[in-house]
Amino acid sequence: MVIPIIYREELREYDYGLGHPFRGDRYDIFPQFLKKKLVEGQDYQMIIAEPAGDDELHLICQHDYIDFCQRYYRAANLGLDYPGDFNRFLSRDNIPRGRPGKVEEAARLIVGQAKVAADLVATDESSKVVALGGGMHHAKGNYGEGFCLYNDVAFCARYLRQVHGLDRVLVLDTDAHAGNGTAEYFYEDPSVLLIDLHQDPRTLYPGTGFAHQIGSEDGRGFTINVPMPLFSGEDAYQQVFEEIVRPVAEEFRPQVIIRNGGSDPHTADELTNLGLQVKSFRMLGEQVREMAEVCEGKEIDLIGSGYNRQVLPHAWLALICGLTGTDAELEEPEPTAEWQGERSFSDINAIIRIAKDHLKEYWECLR
Ligand SMILES: [Zn+2]
Repeated sequence: MVIPIIYREELREYDYGLGHPFRGDRYDIFPQFLKKKLVEGQDYQMIIAEPAGDDELHLICQHDYIDFCQRYYRAANLGLDYPGDFNRFLSRDNIPRGRPGKVEEAARLIVGQAKVAADLVATDESSKVVALGGGMHHAKGNYGEGFCLYNDVAFCARYLRQVHGLDRVLVLDTDAHAGNGTAEYFYEDPSVLLIDLHQDPRTLYPGTGFAHQIGSEDGRGFTINVPMPLFSGEDAYQQVFEEIVRPVAEEFRPQVIIRNGGSDPHTADELTNLGLQVKSFRMLGEQVREMAEVCEGKEIDLIGSGYNRQVLPHAWLALICGLTGTDAELEEPEPTAEWQGERSFSDINAIIRIAKDHLKEYWECLR
């Protein structure tokens, strides 16, 4: 299949400056790599999007927050200080260093990409779409954190609901960090089911995403957190898909699935402690492809994270290959061995049991 891949060079402006872990040149790595591995026009087609305007951002953000971000990052890019109340709107990890890029404009572009992806899938122009550089799942309606300004995952789900009139959207977050921003948007909303697989929050930012956090009010049961034990490998992930993700997806019957997350659950990622290998990302992609059969294959893939630059292109390619059923030679750029040490605080069976206990009241398939 020819899968549309949304990407634009200007994403490199999402650059917090020299010395910050989030640099803009990380966005150039993948498109160049992709050209060598798959055939453009046959396996994939590159598409560009426009940055989101204020009207679109208002679907997910408050006006004063947008205004602050715009003014603050514009000043930073020019090398100026902006005398506003930074701590009210942004966390310290979003402070740029030196001379950053046009971060706010790039953040708008990421939301614009999610919009194009949603339009293509909702109008049946393409059953699957990939957008590169997104998955800003830590951002909230009036607060940016974890290198995120505007939450494109939340935008995509909300846009599908409000503009395309969908009733049920499933968001699957496989990033190593919990999607605390996305969770906040939909915690009370049963029309958007969030299933979030991430490293044990006792050991990693943002420190939320425990199994007992299942949503509130009408949204109870519609947030599903699976905190993965440290060094969880492919088997553990596969088991979670079989016992929780796939059955719940079938019972929920989403009209579209949105998946977000890049390569940071890889065992060699520098910020995290999980245990996936490059081939495991293909498995993730395949799981999503099979899962999406419940909604005629409709799936939007927001691929973004990854802090080990050797691993990033290989893992992103593996995800796309799994998702589309395309064959490409996958290499493991770093020597990885299955984790042999002390397994962790807790094993995956115990986690699955606990998650099911919290959720069985809401899902027949988990009883
Ligand atoms: Zn992450």
